[in-house]
Order: sequence, then structure tokens, then C-alpha cells
Amino acid sequence: MSLAEEKGVLSGPGLLFVVSGPSGAGKDTLVEGLRARHERFLYSVSATTRPPRPGERDGVDYFFLERPEFERRMAVNGFLETRTYNGHLYGTPRSFIDEALRAGYDVVSKPEVNGALAMKRAFPGAVLIFIVPDKFSYLRSRLEARRTETNAQIAARLETAHDEFTFARNFDYLVINEEAKPQQAIDDLEAIVRAERYRIHRYPDNRLKELENT
Ligand code: 5GP
Repeated sequence: MSLAEEKGVLSGPGLLFVVSGPSGAGKDTLVEGLRARHERFLYSVSATTRPPRPGERDGVDYFFLERPEFERRMAVNGFLETRTYNGHLYGTPRSFIDEALRAGYDVVSKPEVNGALAMKRAFPGAVLIFIVPDKFSYLRSRLEARRTETNAQIAARLETAHDEFTFARNFDYLVINEEAKPQQAIDDLEAIVRAERYRIHRYPDNRLKELENT
């Protein structure tokens, strides 16, 4: 049992960590690294109309939906937020996050920047973390190395990345994902998670009473 659990942090609703930032900043690797260290994290799997990349699994990386099905779910208010990104629809399913937080689980999700801000509106207690590489030019080299997008798609992602930077100040934290120190950024993310769990308002009143009266 972790210190946080012993102290009763988990007796209340879970925490929502929203990890965002431009495409190529390394969100996927960092969130994977964080989840590997914290078993209690649940990952909010988004839905998308983008076709799967090699190796991506339906229901694990994304729920891959045909556009009519995505639009049907949108119409019945099935998403917390949706966004068109490079011609494809992306959305955060509503019920999973609601239920997981209510059950006391911490949840992590990684939408693009507008999605992150929409999630803060829906859950004002959400913790927004902006990921950037230590040099903007690394975004291009990472996207090129990934070889999953055409040159035109990479150019569009880089243009979007500049727009996304303008929203960095709306986030709670900034983590610089240094090219030469990949573990450091995961340590930084972990530090944020730990600190957030110890915020005084996360402790229910009965737990504080208990600490006073034993
Ligand atoms: P990719 O196609 O590279 O997987 O994702 C493209 C962008 O869409 C990334 O910036 C990713 O974070 C974002 N994204 C993934 N899922 C969601 C979602 O549910 N909502 C929003 N708003 N963006 C998402």
C-alpha cells in the first residue's frame, strides 16, 4: 500500500490528469511510463475516425470508429469533448471517466490542447499538464522518425503545434521532455501526481478528524 493510500487520499473521488501538448512532444511515451509506475491509473481510451497505425489495437490505443458511428455517439451526448484534428474526429467517451472517478480511481487521458481545456471545463478539478520537447525543432524530427504520417500531414501537425503553444499558459504544469533524458520527464510527471494527491482539499473531513482523534 502506498503512503497516499494509507493516508486515505483514495477514499474520495479519483483525480483526473490530462496530459497534452503538440503532436511529437512525447505524450504517448510519457503516459506509458507513468502508467507503468502506477498500477492504479486508469487510461481513458479515446475514440477516433483515424485509421489504426500498424500495431495499434482497437479498445486499447483507441476505439476506432467509422464516421457515422462516431457521429451517432456524438448525437447522444456520448462524448465529454470532441475535436477534428487533421481531418479526423477524436473524442473522449463520457461515461468511462465519470464512473472511474466516482469509484475512486485516478484517470489519465491525453487529448490535444483544445480537448484538454474542454476537460477542465467539465471537471474543474482536473490537473492539466503541458508537454513540450526541449527544442521545437525536435517535433519535426520525431514525427519524421515515426514514419506514420505523410510529409503534408507532418507539416499540418507542426502548424497546429504552433497554435497549441499559445494555450500553454492555460495549463497547470509544464513538463519539458528533454531529448537526452527521457526518464527525467517521467520523474517530473510522477512528482506532479504525488503532489496533487497530497493537496489538503483531497482529504475528506472524516479522515482529518480521524488524524486528530487517534
Ligand atoms: P494521433 O492521431 O497522433 O493519435 O492523435 C492526434 C492528436 O489527437 C493528438 O494530439 C492526440 O493527443 C489527440 N487526441 C487523441 N484523442 C483525443 C481525444 O479524445 N480528444 C481530443 N480532443 N484529442 C485527442
